[in-house]
Amino acid sequence: MSSADDSRAGHRNGGASVKGFIQKVRFSHPPLNDSLEEEIQTFLIDEDQLHTFDDLTKVNPVTPTTVLKCLKARYSMRVFYTHAGCTLVALNPFQPIPDLYSLDVMNEYHCAPQPQEFKPHIFIVAEEAYRNVQGQLEPVNQSLVVSGESGAGKTWTSRCLMKYYATVAASSSVMKSQDTVERIERRVLDSNPIMEAFGNACTLRNNNSSRFGKYIQLQLDRCQLLVGASVQTYLLEKTRVACQPANERNFHIFYQMMKGATDEQRKEWKMPHGQHYAWLPNTEKIIEEDCFYETLDAMVNLGINTERQREIFRILAGILQLGNVDFSTSTDESKPCNLKEQSEDFLQRAAELLCVPSEELQTCLCVRTLKAGKQNVLKPCSQTECSMRRDCLAKVIYAQLFEWLVTFINNSMCADSSTWYNFIGVLDVYGFECFQINNLEQLCINYANEKLQQHFVAHYLRAQQDEYVSEGLQWSFVKYQDNQSCLDLIEGSPVSVFSLLNEESRLNRASDAKTFRVRLEKELSGNTNISWDKFRQVPHFTVAHYAGKVVYQIEGMVEKNKDPVPPELINLLQKSNNPLLHQLFNDKTTQNPAAKGLSKITVVSKFKNSLESLMRILHSTTPHYTRCIKPNPDCKPLTFTKEEVIVQLEACGIVETIHISAAGFPIRIPFKSFMQRYGLITKYSRFKSEGVCVDLEADSNILRQEVEKLLQALDSSNCLESQKHNSFVHCGRT
Ligand code: ATP
Ligand code: MG
Repeated sequence: MSSADDSRAGHRNGGASVKGFIQKVRFSHPPLNDSLEEEIQTFLIDEDQLHTFDDLTKVNPVTPTTVLKCLKARYSMRVFYTHAGCTLVALNPFQPIPDLYSLDVMNEYHCAPQPQEFKPHIFIVAEEAYRNVQGQLEPVNQSLVVSGESGAGKTWTSRCLMKYYATVAASSSVMKSQDTVERIERRVLDSNPIMEAFGNACTLRNNNSSRFGKYIQLQLDRCQLLVGASVQTYLLEKTRVACQPANERNFHIFYQMMKGATDEQRKEWKMPHGQHYAWLPNTEKIIEEDCFYETLDAMVNLGINTERQREIFRILAGILQLGNVDFSTSTDESKPCNLKEQSEDFLQRAAELLCVPSEELQTCLCVRTLKAGKQNVLKPCSQTECSMRRDCLAKVIYAQLFEWLVTFINNSMCADSSTWYNFIGVLDVYGFECFQINNLEQLCINYANEKLQQHFVAHYLRAQQDEYVSEGLQWSFVKYQDNQSCLDLIEGSPVSVFSLLNEESRLNRASDAKTFRVRLEKELSGNTNISWDKFRQVPHFTVAHYAGKVVYQIEGMVEKNKDPVPPELINLLQKSNNPLLHQLFNDKTTQNPAAKGLSKITVVSKFKNSLESLMRILHSTTPHYTRCIKPNPDCKPLTFTKEEVIVQLEACGIVETIHISAAGFPIRIPFKSFMQRYGLITKYSRFKSEGVCVDLEADSNILRQEVEKLLQALDSSNCLESQKHNSFVHCGRT
């Protein structure tokens, strides 16, 4: 059978018999040592059958090796999704799989009475959240947390989820006119190409790497119809505009412009064919195809009119010209740096496109204004300072433009304030990062991952264990790694890496990496999650994250945290005659003098605040976890590298999760729903047809007795482990 047939025909999990509808309770084995493990697994696992395990909780024993083997076997059979208890593991095929996400398949999962009986698929998670959001008793907001390392498939998965809801939430339309529904779906889907054009880039790890995090809320009304959406973004990697790591690229949108521009546009943007741009490396690697037109179409659909589009592209073209402006050293320190040959032309073009006076632009880049009492003193900048100011100008413009786009997208897709809705949130954030050189960006990203891991541990692992105790279930505790002490190290109070970093940033002294390192050691050495390598020359600190150790370089960290923008640059941009640019720098935040001065909120404080608000939202929703796995480092189709996968499995604690799920009861059904669902299927049934009716509104003790009788009749009473006070039937898969 071909892979396509296989994936299509294989959706049904073999008719679930009435008697087999509840699996026996199984308890996990304590971890075995490695050699024993290898030996035992050959006895317990039939290698030929490995690919048939739809749920890793059924693998026996559960060890990193058996889990890995099972996933490998499934991958080689082109089965990309596997349950791991409460988590769905998604292996990236790195090639389009025909029919895996087709409309038919969507409908199959959507219309199934029990989609979880089908083959594992992202649509099971999607459908479960969709059904939950309406709630049996009351509506409950849902969150789909998609995690994994760069290139693992988070964004792809998020897009699949959005398409799923745009399809099923529209097809169940009964209330709204077809027009309204379609418009909202279109807009929700059109937000993707725009955000990806401006926020994604080709990196060494992924040709379409998201350089920001996002949480998109799909808003559904009481009829389960999509009535709108909103998106929150996190920490755009704006440094990429002015500085691209070796062999990586700038944001897609610049390449799309270069590839897709008409001659007329090139003229307007002052971009003749063949012109080299310093901030546009690796242009020969064409991956854009006709994405520019897709981006333009999406802009039109979202309501960005032609005039606004022109303003946007003039700003972007202005940024590119700015990148070709270079400075020469000044022999006389009292005089500003000169522009290098040809740079004058580029500066002139940049000024024209950004609609600011060119002399003023040059002065802003080359001369600093210092306050001396009530007087302003002008001080020429060094060559390096000039370049830094140029880069800073590009970054601040791009970041504001991105924020404006996100706000525009939100305004155009959000349900109006009078509409009642519940939401399903999809979280797609950057995975754990550990490079040769790690700085503030990685610290923030890894901190976000620690927070998400804590949410997972708290919400699932800990909550599940606590619940079993309160429900009186027989239970042996599974140890799990609690990352609280690592979070205390990074963000805790009164002293933490963040608090010391902020203090250092506020002092506004010439930052010295060595002094900062000494302070870190003095104040934080009590926390076992931080350490220092005596033999490493450069100032650094090492953090033991739940996913592994990361060495952070201190040099430049304080400055990055301050993220200063010279006030002269803001003043200049406020005067721009480009209406959009003018607007970007004339809103409340940029006009506020505090935003220009020293009391500006630091990068880590801002990030911590936005993450805390995300966590509050996540805690208020029912979470569903999907762990995307990158099967090989080179993004090769259908290639599975054990070493690459095992590291990711360890990093996300998948074995621990399986242990808890295997030892526990992944399904929890309230008595009332249980009776509603299964009461009729046995001889025991005493419903209306036989003249006796079980009162579903009866008190929980009576219902409990009824459930017990039903389970006895089904010979599955071992799934009801609790003795007293409980109100749920806990079981394996139904
Ligand atoms: P980053 O953190 O860098 O943003 P990511 O986890 O978002 O990475 P994606 O961009 O979603 O990774 O996926 C990388 C590439 O893998 C995609 O561009 C696509 O080519 C391929 N891919 C991912 N998931 C699938 C899938 N289910 N089917 C086919 N191809 C896929
Ligand atoms: Mg991504």
